Amino acid sequence: MTSTTALAERLGRARKELAERGVDALLLGPSADLYYLTGYQAPLLERLTLLVLPAGGDARLVVPALEAPLARGQLGALELEVTAWQETEDPVGLVRSALEAAGAAGGRLGVGDRLWSTFLLRLQAALPGADFVAASAVTRQLRIRKDPEEVVALARVAAAIDRVVDGLDQLGWAGRTELEVARDLDAAIRAGHDEVCFVIVGSGPNGASPHHVASDRVIRPGDPVVVDIGGRLDGYCSDTTRTLVVGQPPAGFQELYAVLHAAQLAGCDAAGPGVAAARVDAACREVIAAAGHGEHFIHRTGHGIGLEEHEDPYLVAGNDEPLEPGMAFSVEPGIYLPGRFGARIEDIMVCTGEGGRRLNTTARELRVVDA
Ligand code: ZN
Ligand code: ZN
Ligand code: ZN
Repeated sequence: MTSTTALAERLGRARKELAERGVDALLLGPSADLYYLTGYQAPLLERLTLLVLPAGGDARLVVPALEAPLARGQLGALELEVTAWQETEDPVGLVRSALEAAGAAGGRLGVGDRLWSTFLLRLQAALPGADFVAASAVTRQLRIRKDPEEVVALARVAAAIDRVVDGLDQLGWAGRTELEVARDLDAAIRAGHDEVCFVIVGSGPNGASPHHVASDRVIRPGDPVVVDIGGRLDGYCSDTTRTLVVGQPPAGFQELYAVLHAAQLAGCDAAGPGVAAARVDAACREVIAAAGHGEHFIHRTGHGIGLEEHEDPYLVAGNDEPLEPGMAFSVEPGIYLPGRFGARIEDIMVCTGEGGRRLNTTARELRVVDA
């Protein structure tokens, strides 16, 4: 739980950022942005919930009347006006009034990146004089650097997912389907998290599909298996990948894994303050390309992580943004041979003043489980 003081401070920084970027108000629906600024985990439903945060003037949370008690409970002592709208009222009209009161109805409005188009279209129709821009222009600046409290939360959730990884060899693999194993993993994640976000179990050739969904394929002796799992605890996300092999690895797999392991170490070693995000990607890619697998590393090296599984900064060619203390991100190179197998190693890291700190601490060597 974020303290009221911290939330008030974040709202203050958001207003400052709005003013600096020439945005007159933020309009945020249920999202990580809204949660970050207010502590309110709003239901994502067809009735409009919207935070109106003008650069100058009073902030207001417009909520459906039936959700007002929930909102007030979660906002706690935070000073924020709550406007509850009744079923027959027009919530967009209330938003327009709030913007008019702040003198922002005809200005530049930063609308939440995750706001449904059904709401945005109604807002645009009701505010013909306004100029709509993506709220992330403002909110990414706030969320991209985690404060010490957030780093503690990310370390805690990383430790929770590491405990699931520690139990991988206990699960029973050969002769079971990916779905059966995924259900066990689901239960293990749930035991240490508030919520399971995803479970990827890609065995044999399925491991060559990075975002494979667990299927009814039966895992066989000799299969490499990519396990990518994540959940949420106190709002913050975990995300880690380990690759294992059931008994004897197939021809060529150990060599491929050794390349991947070296690439992931190179990426982790490269991460540090002042280093361009793209450099970490290049550090991994150079090792994989030198081994002749450049074309089999088919995704970026990493993504930022926090209240969302994937957020800024992205570790990808072309992103020359320097890493800064407080930034948290994955380092997850993979090598995928279509029709045969794949492998990926993923750790979450946080940039500190001295370098990169790994939050996932389980061994990165190839795991061999009983056939
Ligand atoms: Zn992914
Ligand atoms: Zn992952
Ligand atoms: Zn990831």
